[in-house]
Amino acid sequence: MSQETKLEQVQVTCGKSYDVIVVGGGVAGVSAAVAASRQGRKVLLIEKASFLGGLATLGLVVLYHPPLDDGTGRKLVGGLAEELLHLSIQYSYDDLPKEWTYGAMTAQGKGRYQTVFNAPAFALALNELMQKENVDVLYDALFCTPEMEGGVCKGVSVETKAGRYFYGAKAFVDGSGDADLLYRAGAQVVERPENALTFWMLSTDLKSMERAIALGDIGRAIRIEAIGANPHEDCVDKDTTQYGIRTPEEVSEFIMKGMNMGMTRLKSFDKNSRCLVSIPGMAEYRKTRAIVGEYTLAEKDREQHFEDSIGCTKEEFEPHLIEIPYRCLVSRQCDNILASGRIISCDGRPRDTLRLIALCALTGEAAGLAASMISQTGEKAISLDVGQLQKKLVENKNLLHF
Ligand SMILES: Cc1cc2nc3c(=O)[nH]c(=O)nc-3n(C[C@H](O)[C@H](O)[C@H](O)COP(=O)(O)OP(=O)(O)OC[C@H]3O[C@@H](n4cnc5c(N)ncnc54)[C@H](O)[C@@H]3O)c2cc1C
Repeated sequence: MSQETKLEQVQVTCGKSYDVIVVGGGVAGVSAAVAASRQGRKVLLIEKASFLGGLATLGLVVLYHPPLDDGTGRKLVGGLAEELLHLSIQYSYDDLPKEWTYGAMTAQGKGRYQTVFNAPAFALALNELMQKENVDVLYDALFCTPEMEGGVCKGVSVETKAGRYFYGAKAFVDGSGDADLLYRAGAQVVERPENALTFWMLSTDLKSMERAIALGDIGRAIRIEAIGANPHEDCVDKDTTQYGIRTPEEVSEFIMKGMNMGMTRLKSFDKNSRCLVSIPGMAEYRKTRAIVGEYTLAEKDREQHFEDSIGCTKEEFEPHLIEIPYRCLVSRQCDNILASGRIISCDGRPRDTLRLIALCALTGEAAGLAASMISQTGEKAISLDVGQLQKKLVENKNLLHF
């Protein structure tokens, strides 16, 4: 790996100033932006792709998990996570059990509060939501560098087709999925080069279409081709190369070899009866960088209550309840940048759960509310009035404790 570096000078145009800037428009970033805007803040969401949703839409991860309930008919996750679940299926098919209506606290029956969704329909719905919620969105804009004064971020520079722009704000949320903002701002992070090759594609075939017609359910015509590692394997399979984001070449190799796996699958199709519908538009990394936050949630914390809890859930693969401390979103090195989504400070099995879509929405909402408070009071993320944050989360129909 070459360690040689050189300085480049670029002309930067100054853009507007905001109360809150969110970097990355995945589910976490979108939730953060909506939460802050609903508090009356002027919000900018910066997204490098040309639609929102991140791995959930671009990455074709079309299963809204983990269930919002605890498996006994009691809801654990509400707020924006519940709202976005319903938005993901508002304009297309789903497999949500009928008993889980929006806002229900309990439900009879065995159905879990989760669903499949249609990725493009969700992306269009998210675009509509941003306009409804008065969030400014910069699409096709790559966050590059934070401007720091000590631990305080003053603004970010963004590479666009119109050149390099600078946008200032009072508080920030990192929803980049890779901690790009926090890492470049000097936050302590852990690198996780623990991704075995994965490539999820969508396909259809005549048999699935026949089944869909028979059931009157177009969703049955879509097949998920989940090729490569599953979450149980990606950290432990020593025979498989484990990829991270350490060099541009490593990222490209991950993407290229993923497509090669997709090609092998495609070549096995009967051309006349089975075809591809879509391939992922972003690298399907599960875990890359995460912050080393004020608290790192680990397996020892299962079934524990936290005074600064921002929400709770049941683990995806094991029957443990967990609460998420606000401190997992906070880096000691950065006063006014909150972490959200799959980069928050957690480890082991809790991390495998907290990176799932519903919980990225939950931590995004909490980060957006915290950033909105910081933008008003100028307090540091680390010394935020967590009671006030929890009050806002509860007003938004979130449950703090299991
Ligand atoms: C193969 C695979 C299978 C999975 N299966 C499931 C599942 O079945 N159910 C489930 O719930 N979850 C699943 N997950 C996990 C889940 O999809 C993700 O963890 C979650 O969607 C992450 O959301 P996020 O908003 O934190 O990050 P992301 O979705 O990664 O969003 C980050 C956003 O930031 C943007 N961005 C990044 N860098 C920049 C930059 N420098 N400038 C501007 N924009 C930037 C990206 O384009 C993206 O839109 C799976 C993940 C993978 C990879």
